[in-house]
Amino acid sequence: MPERSESDSRKLLRRLRDTLAVPGAGQDRLDQITHLIADSMGSEVCSIYLFRDPETLELCATEGLKKEAVHKTRMKLGEGLVGRVARNGQPINTADAPGEKGFRYMPETGEELFSSFLGVPIQRVGEKLGVLVVQSKTARQFSEDEIYALDVVAMVLAEMTELGAFTSDEGGMRALHKQPVMLRGTSGQEGAAEGRVWLHEPRVVITNPVADDPLTEIDRIRDAVGQLRVSVDDLLSAESLDKDQKAVLEAYRMFAHSRGWLRRMEEDIHRGLSAEAAVEKEQSAARNRLEQVPDAYLRERLSDLDDLSNRLLRILTGQGKDTGAEMPDDPVLVARNIGPAELLEYGRKLKGIVLDEGSVGSHAAVVARALAIPLVINTERITAEALNGDPILVDGDQGIVHLRPEETVARAFRDKIAMQAKAQERYASLRSLPATATCGTTIALHMNAGLMADLPSLEGSGAEGVGLFRTELQFLVRSKMPQRAELARLYARVMDAAKGKRVAFRTLDIGSDKVLPYMKPQDEPNPAMGWRAVRVGLDKPGVLRMQLQALIRAANGRPLTIMFPLITEMSEFQAARSHALRELHREKSLGHPVPERVDIGAMMETPSLAFAPKAFFELTDFISVGGNDLKQFFFAADRENELVRRRYDTLNLSFLGFLEQIVARCAETDTPLSFCGEDAGRPIEALALAAIGFRSLSMRPASVGPVKALLRRVNLTEARAVIDRARAEGAETARPHLMEWLAAQTD
Ligand code: PEP
Ligand code: MG
Repeated sequence: MPERSESDSRKLLRRLRDTLAVPGAGQDRLDQITHLIADSMGSEVCSIYLFRDPETLELCATEGLKKEAVHKTRMKLGEGLVGRVARNGQPINTADAPGEKGFRYMPETGEELFSSFLGVPIQRVGEKLGVLVVQSKTARQFSEDEIYALDVVAMVLAEMTELGAFTSDEGGMRALHKQPVMLRGTSGQEGAAEGRVWLHEPRVVITNPVADDPLTEIDRIRDAVGQLRVSVDDLLSAESLDKDQKAVLEAYRMFAHSRGWLRRMEEDIHRGLSAEAAVEKEQSAARNRLEQVPDAYLRERLSDLDDLSNRLLRILTGQGKDTGAEMPDDPVLVARNIGPAELLEYGRKLKGIVLDEGSVGSHAAVVARALAIPLVINTERITAEALNGDPILVDGDQGIVHLRPEETVARAFRDKIAMQAKAQERYASLRSLPATATCGTTIALHMNAGLMADLPSLEGSGAEGVGLFRTELQFLVRSKMPQRAELARLYARVMDAAKGKRVAFRTLDIGSDKVLPYMKPQDEPNPAMGWRAVRVGLDKPGVLRMQLQALIRAANGRPLTIMFPLITEMSEFQAARSHALRELHREKSLGHPVPERVDIGAMMETPSLAFAPKAFFELTDFISVGGNDLKQFFFAADRENELVRRRYDTLNLSFLGFLEQIVARCAETDTPLSFCGEDAGRPIEALALAAIGFRSLSMRPASVGPVKALLRRVNLTEARAVIDRARAEGAETARPHLMEWLAAQTD
């Protein structure tokens, strides 16, 4: 095979484009292309393997292998050399293919005759489409130049594929973005939704992957990179940047000014690619390189580079984010990731949210939960698959998404939605009834909230009040520290919306996973156990005092309930309480109305507080168990870490025993006690909590119905006996016993 020059490669691309310009069926085109490549590269074989489904590749066209094998030979991702190229997104170049590790013998192809093998992935950014292979009889390594040339051809094939050039019903390629796809992610918020895709950032469409005039393309790319650099420099010179934003922009600037980046794109252009295709080729290559890197920091830079490449593509194509497309009815937001403020802007009109990235504890997830919008995160490739307007089903319970679903799947899904709606109706009928168990004990059910958007749920959910108002959400969704007057107005609106029902305002719980964009982040090795919540408030009381003033002013004479997060020992509570009393006194001396009654309580989120002196239990007006934190510290299992967060059962009898001790200590001093972690909203867990003596639970609004429905049909004394029996039998968790007992109950 002769050494290839840049102009050879351009010639090949031009022939490829001309072939594709002639109307034809998908299969014919694929056949012509393999012929063309083999001929032009002087190799005996050229084959195109395309994905049939995300796990299987199929030989779709070949020049040189046996024609009978076309559409018959298949391999799994990772299987054989072709499967390996597809899985790793990296070329394989070998002089002795049959001797290569992982070689799979496929007698139907006649492949064993060919010794040399060069396979390159056919891929667009984040989207694997197939593998392009050339083979020859002579045992030789392909040169760097040949690999490069084949890579460029594969890039053009990928773009053409995207444009539907090989699509046909018989034999050719299945049309992209038309097939049903099921994606498995993680549940961020339960619930099911059916709707149509709305892309937060629509993808850029490249219509001209091949270009005839490299000099014009080089001018275009240089000009676009110049514009990009100026825009990044402009962003960096803005005064309002915090340290994090600056760090990200510095990374952008580094990439934008990288000579290697521009040089590689210029080389691609010399090979015959258009400026746009060159940007995408480097974006794909960088993605593949960075995805293999184990270092989390470097992998994060991947998204910086992606952002930058997208900006460059938008400059080149003139395609802005606003495509003029109209948001469909029942929109389901699809994005790589999204910030809480942007999500709030969309608000309740969204039917569902699907994110390629994200985490259960992220602020976006918190907002989605507050808005009760089904959310699936970590789908990894939804943004590569979905197009605006595609039908989509979001199963927030299972963390599954069906894109362009088959009718049978959609029908089953609609049944599920209908069943959930029926259950909701049933819960709605319980709205005004108390959660009184058959033994006569009544449990007060409250809801957790954090945004104004939550308040309308208070009435509909049947909750008696707000047991936990997470005030930090208001701080998190803003780009700068809110002012006292602004907060006072907001808290007043919350109290107005609650119409006299009790709202327990928890003071700012920042730190750990909740980092305010405008506060100096602390570099802590273990932030969940670090400088967070009331610890920050006591050490730097300015914000705490401002917040207490805002609450007192908002109450404007009405009763007020305040609770302090992560109280770990009595003295912290005493100090925090003193701040509240001092502010009350100050407001009074300023002539402002003070609340007719103020309850000041503590959140019990660390085991130490359960063993505090009796004086603490006497001093506090109430205790609210923050089960999320308490459980993570009890079991030493990080609530944000997917590897361990589900490892320990809340119904573990050691944990239940510990909670029983807290119930007993509160009973001793008549201290009102409630539970406000996520577990309070899970029916079986809520039942266990009620059985061991909790008389007040606070949960997500959507959980009030299911919890109430269960509590109303059980006898708590019996449930308590079941837990005791499990313990007496030496069980580790009471769950199986409780489940068995529940199954035996009749309505
Ligand atoms: C908790 O820890 O259980 C709690 C309610 O607080 P948060 O989830 O906001 O930390
Ligand atoms: Mg907590």
